Amino acid sequence: MVPDTVSRLAALGLDILLESGAGDTAFGGDSEYEAAGASIVAPEDVDDALADADVIATVRPLDPERGAKLKSGAVAMSFLQPANDTAAIEAIASAGATALSFDLVPRISRAQSMDALTSQALVTGYRAALVGAELLPKFFPLFMTAAGTIPPAKVLVLGAGVAGLQAIATAKRLGAVVSAYDVRAASADEVKSMGASFIELDLEALEAGGGYAREMSEDRAARQRELLTPYITESDVLITTAAVPGRQAPRLVTAEMLADMKPGSVVVDLAAETGGNVEGSVAGEEVVIDGVRIWGAKDVASSMPVHASRLYAMNVVALLGLAVQEGELVLDPEDEVFQGCAVVLNGEIKQGA
Ligand code: NAD
Repeated sequence: MVPDTVSRLAALGLDILLESGAGDTAFGGDSEYEAAGASIVAPEDVDDALADADVIATVRPLDPERGAKLKSGAVAMSFLQPANDTAAIEAIASAGATALSFDLVPRISRAQSMDALTSQALVTGYRAALVGAELLPKFFPLFMTAAGTIPPAKVLVLGAGVAGLQAIATAKRLGAVVSAYDVRAASADEVKSMGASFIELDLEALEAGGGYAREMSEDRAARQRELLTPYITESDVLITTAAVPGRQAPRLVTAEMLADMKPGSVVVDLAAETGGNVEGSVAGEEVVIDGVRIWGAKDVASSMPVHASRLYAMNVVALLGLAVQEGELVLDPEDEVFQGCAVVLNGEIKQGA
């Protein structure tokens, strides 16, 4: 939550309790939340407050011990992955409660304001371009000076979804020459509309439902790597963002391909936490392989806490707005949004676990 959104929740007729210090790292002190209408709960009282709450909004899933203590009919909302968070899911189910996951909000226009994957990917993509610019021992923009002309940096973005498009926009604003590739045919126009060039490869497109990509076969992956190698070799900064929901990140760049890059080049692997698009990248670390600096992303949204929190809080308000009528929790299980994002519904596990 940010203080602004507390008053929006109060306007829905809800009483808001906030764990003391929850806003500290986003520069929101307890007193600001109190002024907006929240009651502050001391750390030692959080378990009691959880057991009494109708709705619990967090970023990460509740730990299983806390999930098991929810009251029957309560709703916990957070990022939650059916394949990975089985203990939390089982605990919330055992309590007879409901778990809504921001990972699974359907991509329909009505739910855009609830799409926290998108809001956080915006933050991540923006940061990726800044990290690339900061680590590159060269300028991003073209400079024509009395001492000679400096050519602009070449930035290549692989995976042009929400994060990729934001990385493109940010790198363009910094003056780099940007190109991009994605397996979805629709992304070509989106990339061009950002002022970047789209790399056309002689490969089939891989679209799945909901605007997401499909997994590649190993043959196609090898061919894609081969065709992309010349583009990667000539780039100064490579930003990879490729993901397939519920799967390990696809391997787009091998150690051999890195060895062909110029020393001093920079690779930003936004998929480092889910297996890595780039061989050798380590989540949360910077490693140098053959003179190429590889930055492995870890929890990037937390490095821009003010706006990441603000956007996430707005997503929480929007999803709650759909579940609350006149101050009462009325969650319609037939609503397409809840059908998509309810992992547990009143104790019944709907997805995963
Ligand atoms: P994502 O995080 O799942 O994946 C990131 C990108 O990686 C995607 O563009 C995907 O196509 C690409 N990718 C996957 N495998 C790849 C590979 N082998 N090589 C290269 N690229 C690969 O995706 P995302 O950012 O969440 O968004 C995907 C699409 O959904 C975008 O077009 C976005 O505009 C759209 N979207 C729609 C809505 C809506 O309609 N409400 C909301 C958000 C996003």
